[in-house]
Amino acid sequence: MTPENEIKSAHELRKIATEYYQNLDKASKDPRKNIAWCSSVGPAELLLAFDYNVYYPENHTAILGASRSANKYIPVAVAQGYSPEICSYLTSDIGAYIKKETGLKRAYGIEKVPKPDILIYNTNQCRDVQDWFKYYAKEFQVPILGINSPTFIDELSNTHVKTVEEQIKKISETLEKITDQSFERKKLELRLQLSLECSNKWNSVLETASSIPSPLTFFDGCIHMLPAVVLRGTEIAVEYYDKLEQELKLRIENGIAAVVEESFRCFWEGMPIWGKLRALSNQFSELKTCIVASTYCNSWIFSDFNPQEPFRSMAKAYTELFINRSESSKEKYLKKMMDKFSVDGMIYHNARTCPNNSNTNYGMPKRLQNQTGIPSLQIDADLNDLNVYSEEQTKTNIEAFIEQLAGI
Ligand code: SF4
Repeated sequence: MTPENEIKSAHELRKIATEYYQNLDKASKDPRKNIAWCSSVGPAELLLAFDYNVYYPENHTAILGASRSANKYIPVAVAQGYSPEICSYLTSDIGAYIKKETGLKRAYGIEKVPKPDILIYNTNQCRDVQDWFKYYAKEFQVPILGINSPTFIDELSNTHVKTVEEQIKKISETLEKITDQSFERKKLELRLQLSLECSNKWNSVLETASSIPSPLTFFDGCIHMLPAVVLRGTEIAVEYYDKLEQELKLRIENGIAAVVEESFRCFWEGMPIWGKLRALSNQFSELKTCIVASTYCNSWIFSDFNPQEPFRSMAKAYTELFINRSESSKEKYLKKMMDKFSVDGMIYHNARTCPNNSNTNYGMPKRLQNQTGIPSLQIDADLNDLNVYSEEQTKTNIEAFIEQLAGI
């Protein structure tokens, strides 16, 4: 992206991110405030309804990945007995903690991650979050609560939703005891309303990429998704996406493309490669290819939130995530996305340490290619562990793939 076509709201985003982390830092020093650590698709709205300041370790570890410092920390966790083959978010984050370092220092001038009063996870994304959070529960000697979600779901059933709904209600009862505070339905309704608005706006932002040329790329999405992850349930996120959507719509009106002379449009399936976002963004731009959409950025769209049915709708929205679905359900979704975003090619990131969010191992790319005629490329890499990434090989493979698209 050149300075002329860069997204101006990025400045505002930087301010929002800094304030979010500074507020957490202040809260961690204030004995009247409580801090909850929550997995990225955990029940954040419930925690906000109990007045917790919510911190998301996944965002912290993505900062370690993006700053390319994760590989300094992964061996530290490995020395504690964690396999280098498991989630590199987990190993980077725990390694940094053991070394008493944080990505927040360089990014926001903050010395330490905020100490938790409680940890809450949901296995809707994987079991790794459970092991990750258990480490910290032991370390900080604080309570840990979890939702064990059904996985590989084909069609979401009433039984699936009910199982999760009951667990969320139980967590609410436990939070009443821990905080000595009664559950207030109105507070949860408000948080869900704000999360729903955030989610709808975020969806509108991502959908602007269906325009040809697209005003944003997947790589922009990875940066601008921060409020949807860490500030859903607040006005800040809603206001931010409102402005961002307006900016992107204006770009469409004025014909400002994220990729100058956009000639090819691809879809990114799987996790980002955080330490290579800029390099990949530049390479695709040079090849006049816009990565228009992804399953990753769309994972924070929760259209089923309904303040009138807070527990049930949270259970539904947090269980029907893409990552949690059967192969056939994922394929249906991907076909819809390929069509909606007028995609010429599919890029599948096979992330070495996240098989949960990699869909290359059971024949999906080939099946979808046969059904749609849209070619695909597999990139073997990782979200944080750059030791398993071959820059030259990936570069060459991408070039060859775009040449192939040009020849179609
Ligand atoms: S989904 Fe993947 S990257 Fe995210 S916590 Fe689980 S294993 Fe790690």
